[in-house]
Amino acid sequence: MCGIAAYYSRNEENAAASVVTELYAQQHRGQESGGIAASNGREITVRKAMGYIKEGISGEDLKRLSGRLAIGHVRYPTRGTSDLAMTQPYVIETLSGPIYAIASNGDIVNYEEVAGELRVKGVHFSSKNDGELLGRFIVYYHEREGMEIADAIRLLMRRIKGAYSAVFIARDHLYIFRDGWGFRPLTIGQTADGDVAAASESCAMDLMRCENMREVEPGEVVVVTPSKTYFLSAEDGLIKPVFPIRRHCVFELIYFARPDSSQFGEYVYDVRHKIGARLAAYDEFDADVVVPVPDSANFIAMGYASAKGIPFNMGLIRNHYVGRTFIRPDQNSRDEGVRQKFNPLKDFFNNKRVVLVDDSIVRGTTIRKLVRMVKAVGAREVYLRIGSPPVTHSCYYGIDTPDKETLIANLMNVDEICAYIGADSLKYLTIDDLAKCVKQSDRFCYACFNGNYPLPRTAEQRGSAC
Ligand code: AMP
Repeated sequence: MCGIAAYYSRNEENAAASVVTELYAQQHRGQESGGIAASNGREITVRKAMGYIKEGISGEDLKRLSGRLAIGHVRYPTRGTSDLAMTQPYVIETLSGPIYAIASNGDIVNYEEVAGELRVKGVHFSSKNDGELLGRFIVYYHEREGMEIADAIRLLMRRIKGAYSAVFIARDHLYIFRDGWGFRPLTIGQTADGDVAAASESCAMDLMRCENMREVEPGEVVVVTPSKTYFLSAEDGLIKPVFPIRRHCVFELIYFARPDSSQFGEYVYDVRHKIGARLAAYDEFDADVVVPVPDSANFIAMGYASAKGIPFNMGLIRNHYVGRTFIRPDQNSRDEGVRQKFNPLKDFFNNKRVVLVDDSIVRGTTIRKLVRMVKAVGAREVYLRIGSPPVTHSCYYGIDTPDKETLIANLMNVDEICAYIGADSLKYLTIDDLAKCVKQSDRFCYACFNGNYPLPRTAEQRGSAC
C-alpha cells in the first residue's frame, strides 16, 4: 500500500508545499507516518513524522524544505517496525552530501537476493525497507560503476523483481519509474506553467491542476531536468528490461484506491459500480434495502441497488476518525475497533430484509460484527454480498493481506463462512465476473483470489514493503 508524490516547480522554491497537498489527497493509502524530501539542486533536506501528513509537516518545516523539487511518501505499515526509521523518503548520503532521495510504493519479492549482492559489493543498509534497496541500487551503479542514472534504473528493472512505483531525486533531477508489470499505480502530469507532478493516484493530481495527465507506463522512466522532461520507454537504451506481461493489482480497484481516481485505464468508481451490477445478477429475490459497509463498498452497493431497483440507503454510519481496525495487532482490539467504527441508524433496520454489501472479507472480523449489529437492531434477514472473490492467498506485491492461515476463505467454505458470520445468505463475486468488470482483464493480477502469482518469491525473508 502506501502512497508517493513528486513535484518539480519551474519557478517557485516551494515544491514541498505541493507534495504535502498531493499526500493529503492520498492519506487513505497510509496513515502511519509520512515524509518529504526537498532538493534545492545542491543538497536534500528531509522531514519525517508519525501520523497524518498535515499534522506532521508544519509551516516551519515547509520553510526548511525549500527547493523546486520535492518527493514525499505516506506509509501504511505492512511488515517491519512501526517507527520513523522505516518511513520514507530515504535520503542517501555520499561523500558529496545528501544528494539522492527515493520514495517507493510496492513490495519486492527478491529483496534478500539483491540486498545480499549489494552487501558483498560493500553497500550498507540502514533498514530493511524496499525503498532503501531501490535507492542504494541506483546510487551504487551510478557512483561506483559509472552508469547513467537512467541506465542504473533500467538495470534495476532487470534485476529487482516485484512491485515498485518510485520517485527518485539526484541533485536537481527527478526520475519517475514503475516496474514492468505495473502492479501499483503511478500518474504524471504537467501544469500550464510547465511544472511536473507525479502521484500514486490521479485524485492527487487533480489538485495539482495538471493540463495533461497520464499513467507512467510499466517499465517507463520519466526524467525531469531543470530545463526539460523526457520519457524513456522500456525499449529505449542499451539495457533493455524484458517484461512479460502487465499485472495490475485488481484489489486497488475493488478496495484500496479512492473512487475519484482512475487507474490502469479504468475509473475506479465505474469498476465498483459494475461489480455491484454483476452481483445483482446472482439474485432473484426481493429485499427492502441495499446497505453498503461504508465507505469502500458504497459504489458496489449503488451498482447492486440500481441494477435491481431496490432502494439504496446508508444504514451504517462510519466514524472517520477511527483509524484502520484491520491492522490492529490482536483480535480483541480489532473487534472493539469495528464497534467504534460503525454504528447503525436507529429504527432503520426494523423488520427489514437487508442486502448488506462489502468489498471483501479477509479475516471475517468486520462483517461478523456488522451482521450481528444489524440483526441486533431489528433486521429480519441479512443477505450478504461481497464485491470480490474469496481472498484465499496473501499478496506479495504490496497489499497488506495477513498470512494465509488467518484468511477465513482459506479455512472455511462459503456455507461455513455464512454460518460463522451469522448471515442468512452469502455470495461472493466470481473471478470470471470480476474480470468482466475491467476492460483488459488479462492485464490484471488476481493472485489473492486464485494463488496464480505472476512472480514467485525467491527468498523467504522479505524486506519491509510499502
Ligand atoms: P476483515 O475484517 O479482516 O475481514 O477485513 C475486511 C475489511 O477490511 C473489508 O471490509 C475491507 O474494506 C477492509 N480491507 C480489506 N483488505 C484490506 C487491507 N489489505 N488493509 C486494510 N483493510 C482492508
